[in-house]
Parts: sequence; C-alpha cells; structure tokens
Amino acid sequence: MKRIIKYTNPKIIAVTGGIGSGQSTVCNHFQKLGCKIIDVDIKAKQIIQKDVLLQKELKKAFGNEIFFKDGSLNRKQLARLAFSDEVKTMELNKIIHPRMVAEVIEEMETARFSLRYPLIIVDAALVFELSIEKMFDAVIVIYANLNNRIKRVMVRDDLMRAEVLARVRRQIPLEEKKLWADFVIDNNGTIDDLKKQTDHIYEELISDIRTAKRIRV
Ligand code: ADP
Repeated sequence: MKRIIKYTNPKIIAVTGGIGSGQSTVCNHFQKLGCKIIDVDIKAKQIIQKDVLLQKELKKAFGNEIFFKDGSLNRKQLARLAFSDEVKTMELNKIIHPRMVAEVIEEMETARFSLRYPLIIVDAALVFELSIEKMFDAVIVIYANLNNRIKRVMVRDDLMRAEVLARVRRQIPLEEKKLWADFVIDNNGTIDDLKKQTDHIYEELISDIRTAKRIRV
C-alpha cells in the first residue's frame, strides 16, 4: 500500500538575487526538499538552441561568432558581447525575454497540474528586471555582499574581477532587491547557514499548503 500526497494548491515562488549571491545553491537545496525547480537560465539556453528565428536575430545583433561551428551557442562569447555595454544588454533582453517568460509560465502550469510539488520554485536572477514579481506568491532574495559575490564567481566561472563587476552592474543592485523581497536569505556565512535558512523558509511556506491524501492499494 502506497500513500500518495497530492498538492492541490502549490505555491509559486521566485528565488532571485544577483550573480554569485547563491541562488543556484539555494535552489538545489529546495529541490532536495521535493520542490520543482524551473531554472530560467537553462530555459533560455534551450530556447536559443531550438528556435531558428531567434538564432537569426541573435546573429544579426551579435555576429555569427556567438555560435560554434556545430550550431551550439557559445555562451561565453555571447555573454562577453552582451554585457559589454548597456545598449547591447538591452538588445539581448529584448530578443530573449518575451520567449523566456512564455516558456517559464508553460512549465509552471505543467508542474502545477501534476499535483506533485508543494512549491514550484522559479530560479531567476532577473525577476525584478523582467517586472514579473507579481506572478509569484512570494519572492525570496538571496543576499551576499559584493566582495563575497565577486570572489565566488571568479572561482566558479574563471573570470577576472572586472568581468564579474561588468555583469553585476547590468543588474539592479541587490540592496534594492532586498527591499522588495518577501524573504531575504543572508549568504555571507557558510553553505550550511544558507541551507538552514532555506529549511526555515520552506517550513513556513508549506505550513498552510492544502493536500489531498490518496491511498493506492
Ligand atoms: P548564483 O546562482 O546566485 O550565481 P551560486 O549558488 O552558483 O550563485 O554560488 C556562486 C558560487 O559560490 C558557487 O560556486 C557556490 O558553490 C559558491 N557559494 C555559494 N554560497 C557560498 C557560501 N556561503 N560559502 C562559500 N561558497 C559559496
């Protein structure tokens, strides 16, 4: 006999922050707790990979060299060009964002109707930049100070300090995002501290989630 819990009203939660603030680490932990994670970066990559019209637009804006010879996206090259100045960043956003938001909504709905998840977490650095914060039951901002973020990204992505800073400057300052958050997680401590704070928020968020228990024999 197997007891199956169906989550009839999952909450839709955004996890956001800035580059290197610890979003992916928090989302990995939420996944271990049984939440559905929708990673907007991965979605964007998939969209670029499969949408030929979009690829054409990107080539027109950024040149053929943003794709490798086998047709796959050279993300590093695109990031380098797109984050070199504000106009280029806006150009990239204008091409990709509408498609990205549409795909995220579709995946959110699929997860909601599966009834399998208490929380559906959208991992997106650009929640406020895209003005989609109203789509969510709550927005969690992961905060870390600039020095910690720069150090962590330099190691993670093998980038120079100046390159990390250029990307940081393309985003709304984390201090500002913090003010708009429903929950703030401080990630200036250890990874263990980060997970503990995530556990607490998880407990709080699921405390009023309705479930329908079914017994399958
Ligand atoms: P984001 O997704 O916000 O860009 P990540 O979760 O990938 O950030 O974290 C950036 C890097 O810093 C990763 O390599 C991660 O393992 C590391 N990291 C995250 N939090 C901490 C922490 N509290 N202490 C040390 N390293 C951390």
